[in-house]
Amino acid sequence: MKKSLFSEKPYRTDGGVSLPHLKETALSPTVKMPPPAYVRLPMQMHIGAPCAPCVKVGDKVLVGQKIGDSEKPFSVPIHASVSGEVTDIAPLRLAGGAVVETVVIASDGEMRQIEHSPISVENEEELIRAVRECGLVGLGGAGFPTHIKLRPGDKKIDTLLINGAECEPYLTSDNREILENSWDVMSGVYLVKKMLGIHRVFICIEKNKPRAIEVLRKIADSSVDYNDEVRVLPLPTSYPQGAEKVLIKSATGREVPEGKLPADVGCIVMNITSISVLSRYIKTGMPLVSKRLTVEGGAVKNKQNVIVPLGTSVSDLLAFVGVSDEDVGKVMFGGPMMGVALESTDVPILKNNNGVVVLTRKEATLGKTTACIHCGRCVSVCPMRLFPLRLEKATERKDTEALERLSQMTCMECGSCAYACPAKRPLVQSMRLGKALLREKNAKKG
Ligand code: SF4
Ligand code: SF4
Repeated sequence: MKKSLFSEKPYRTDGGVSLPHLKETALSPTVKMPPPAYVRLPMQMHIGAPCAPCVKVGDKVLVGQKIGDSEKPFSVPIHASVSGEVTDIAPLRLAGGAVVETVVIASDGEMRQIEHSPISVENEEELIRAVRECGLVGLGGAGFPTHIKLRPGDKKIDTLLINGAECEPYLTSDNREILENSWDVMSGVYLVKKMLGIHRVFICIEKNKPRAIEVLRKIADSSVDYNDEVRVLPLPTSYPQGAEKVLIKSATGREVPEGKLPADVGCIVMNITSISVLSRYIKTGMPLVSKRLTVEGGAVKNKQNVIVPLGTSVSDLLAFVGVSDEDVGKVMFGGPMMGVALESTDVPILKNNNGVVVLTRKEATLGKTTACIHCGRCVSVCPMRLFPLRLEKATERKDTEALERLSQMTCMECGSCAYACPAKRPLVQSMRLGKALLREKNAKKG
């Protein structure tokens, strides 16, 4: 009998917290926003080298037209997301604080597209080229270029993990992608599996998304070629189940050592919307020009998933869904656990944004911070087995040796420790500070 490539159940992982199931938009179909008056497309929406614009002010552009690229391998091209005219190319401050050269396109409202046709992909080389040309980056996280991730040098890869965990409260954009485009997801999985010669694929979805699990299982079970090599794996509903290292441990039992990458333990992790977008690009030849975002939170009138052209301003998106302006306490890119608070809504939506959460003043109010009571909860919930309370003290003392000893850099800033802390200690802020101290020390060392 052929030995199964899969364990019967997910492996146990460390720590984690149980969060309220705030996923009101999970069962509502996605709506499409009409083109805004203008979009702003920064020449860097990814980790790596920025692109240089290949258009100039006054040029007329079509949806899908390349407007920026780089010769550096660690970079991905940028495409026009609306049709219209380039009206400006100038530096712009983005939500994270970086200042990036940005192409502004005034929309003609017509969304006229470039001529496009299916892409032929017959081997690994062609797949990698297609992934880059699509402009694909990790759509659920930091924007790591996908073509780099799919080619990990001489490291032997035996497992592909498709990340559909979506463990942050509020966010349901990946879930809607599965329900609305399940065949795109699965054909993307089969394509990457075949072209990279990977024998085992886990499609990882938290158990609180039973419909998503069901639709993908139906397709996977009906695939004669792959049904013993592709497994839809329901994972326990526990935050941060979708963090790469946690996901790998859950599915394979493997631990990614400190300072190493998934490829070092034979794994590639891809976001589930990324693989679906790739599949559509291969079928149509239209690159990544739009994004689905969950717009949620107590101050949002019509909570829903919305597909917007990349570069749309957050303020335009919020005007589209309706927000109770007088009661806005905080606007964030991403969910409440790992999201980034926005100082202004006058910022463009980028490839890696998957949600905008608008909290009311009450929702955004944090409890009063008191002294640590040494209860140890922060330690027990940390998925990286760290000692947040000791790290906090070391940061206060600026004791970089202690921070190194306590593996500060392995903190993924998931926020589980702060969530569990009865004293409401600002532990995530402390973790970020601790990491900044170590970076500063290493920079001085050269
Ligand atoms: S934020 Fe860092 S220290 Fe806190 S639980 Fe997450 S990984 Fe652990
Ligand atoms: S959870 Fe908060 S109060 Fe408890 S040990 Fe950790 S920092 Fe201290």
